[in-house]
Amino acid sequence: MKKPSLQLLRRLMFAVLCLILYPVHAEKTNKNLHVVTTVPPITNIVENIGGSLITVTGIVPNGMDSHTFEPVPTDAKTLANADMIIVNGLNLEVPTIKLAEKVKKTDTPIVRLANETLPEEEWQYDFSFPKEQGNPNPHLWPNIALTIRYAEIVRDRLAEYDPRHADSYAAHASTYIAKLTRLDQAIFACVETIPESNRKLVTYHDSFAYFAPRYGMEVIAAIQPASFTEPGPRDIVRIIEQIKREKILAIFGSEVFPSKIMEQIARESGAAFVDALSDDELPEKPDHSFIGMMVNNIRIITEALGGNPACASHVDTSNLSD
Ligand SMILES: [Zn+2]
Repeated sequence: MKKPSLQLLRRLMFAVLCLILYPVHAEKTNKNLHVVTTVPPITNIVENIGGSLITVTGIVPNGMDSHTFEPVPTDAKTLANADMIIVNGLNLEVPTIKLAEKVKKTDTPIVRLANETLPEEEWQYDFSFPKEQGNPNPHLWPNIALTIRYAEIVRDRLAEYDPRHADSYAAHASTYIAKLTRLDQAIFACVETIPESNRKLVTYHDSFAYFAPRYGMEVIAAIQPASFTEPGPRDIVRIIEQIKREKILAIFGSEVFPSKIMEQIARESGAAFVDALSDDELPEKPDHSFIGMMVNNIRIITEALGGNPACASHVDTSNLSD
C-alpha cells in the first residue's frame, strides 16, 4: 500500500486540531466579553459603548478615593477572569495594574486610556502632581474632548477583540459621542455666563487641570498636597492670601475628600465654600452617569462664580441602556 503523503498527513492533523479547538473558540465568541474597569467614570463610559454585548465589572467602588485605592482579594479573582482590562493609566491605578499583570490571562490586554490619548509632552504636572514626584495629573476625563478620545479607544479595542459586534460598538459609540459633544458645548456655554474675571478655580482635589484650559478657566490653586494628606500651616496662609489677592468668589471641595482645612481657608479668605465637586463619584439616580456627574460639576461651578446654572439644564444625563 502506498504510504500517505506528508501533505495529506498535515491536512489530517490540521482537521483534527480544528475539531479540538472549535468548541473552545465557539464558547469564547458566544459568551459576553467580560471587561474589568477601575474608576466609575471609565466604568460608565465602557458600559455605554459595550451595552448588553459585554459584562462590565468596575473595581473601584463609587465614592471611594481612587488615588489611594488598594485592590482586595476578590478583585484578584475578577482580574483573573477578565477578557479585557480598561484603566485610566498615568499612574492612577498602580496597585491594581500590578495585581492585574500578575493574575490576568496571558492574552487579556490592559488598555490604558489616558496613555493612549495624550502624548507624554502633553501630560500635566501641577499642584498635587508635581513633576519631581513623577506622577502626572491623571484627570483627563473632565475635559470632554479627551473623554471623546476615551470613547473612541474603547470602541476600537472592543471591536478589535470582538469583531463580530464591531458595528454595534460603532453605533453605540456614535450615539454616546453625540451626547458627549452636547455636554462639551454646554460646558462652554456655562463658562460664557461667568463674568470673565471670575473664571478662576481653587479646588481641594486637583482634578480640573485638563478641564480648565479647554473651557477658558484657570486653576489658581489646588489645595490637596501630593501626599493626599492635609496642607501645612505655611501653605494655608499662602493660599488664603492668594484667594484674597485674586478676589476668588468661591473655593470648591470634593465629596470624596472632606476637609476641615477648606472651611478654615474659606472663613479666613472670605470666599464661599462649595463642597460638592466630583471627579469620580457618580451622582445618585436619575443622573447616575459620567455625563450626570459633569453636569452637576459645571452647574455648581457656574452658580458659585456668578454665572447662570441653567446653561446645562438641557443636557441629557441618561445612559444609553436606561
Ligand atoms: Zn481624582
